[in-house]
Amino acid sequence: MNSRHKERSSYHHTPVHPPSAEEASNRIRLLMQLRSSGIQNTQVLAAIESVPRELFVEEAFREHAWEDTALPIACGQTISQPTVVAWMTWALDVEPRMRVLEIGTGSGYQTAILARLARRVYTVERHKELLAQAEERFRQMQLTNIVSRRGDGSKGWKEAAPFERIIVTAAADEIPAALLEQLAPGGIMVAPVGKNASQILLRIRKDEHGAIGTEHLMNVRFVPLVEG
Ligand code: SAH
Repeated sequence: MNSRHKERSSYHHTPVHPPSAEEASNRIRLLMQLRSSGIQNTQVLAAIESVPRELFVEEAFREHAWEDTALPIACGQTISQPTVVAWMTWALDVEPRMRVLEIGTGSGYQTAILARLARRVYTVERHKELLAQAEERFRQMQLTNIVSRRGDGSKGWKEAAPFERIIVTAAADEIPAALLEQLAPGGIMVAPVGKNASQILLRIRKDEHGAIGTEHLMNVRFVPLVEG
């Protein structure tokens, strides 16, 4: 993966100013923080480093883009905290040949990181405005291996199933049955479940015979998965 080249070209094609010295040093600080918090996987770290988070936040929050915090985006939603993005990406264990389904495109930040690691990313978002903004960012960054659509992600993406990896970035009370069905044998799904303050990030593995195993990874806080 030639992430360095891609990073440069993404700035080149983007009508926003290149990163300031402060942004650059914040970026280095965040990557060091992620490393010391236990994210040692170089592919995951390189993917995070190569995606300019400042493109995915609202202009007003730009100076905070490389801080380890969730930030508001349009439609009352949030771009996830970088540490959480890093752990989810690590937990998903994506390999270059894989197709990944993402539910909850939001800003498209997690999508862009997955696009650096996977063969193809399918992403579903229910808000038209968010999806349009995210698609524009993918165009600017020339991420041509992302397919996106508007819809209820709790139904998955039947026509393109099964997926070797599924990631859900909004919390449901329980994992939607359609997503479990659309996970390939041998596949992994990472998803938060639960209400508001008591959400848990789950890693679900489906074995070759279709049996499901569940691990609790960490406490998290996501916006709700809204069905329909
Ligand atoms: N990964 C995103 C964070 C998204 S927040 C990022 O990095 O920016 C969760 C997103 O899930 C919101 O944009 C919300 O609109 C979307 N969402 C909630 N319920 C959904 C559903 N049923 N189908 C598709 N998207 C949904």
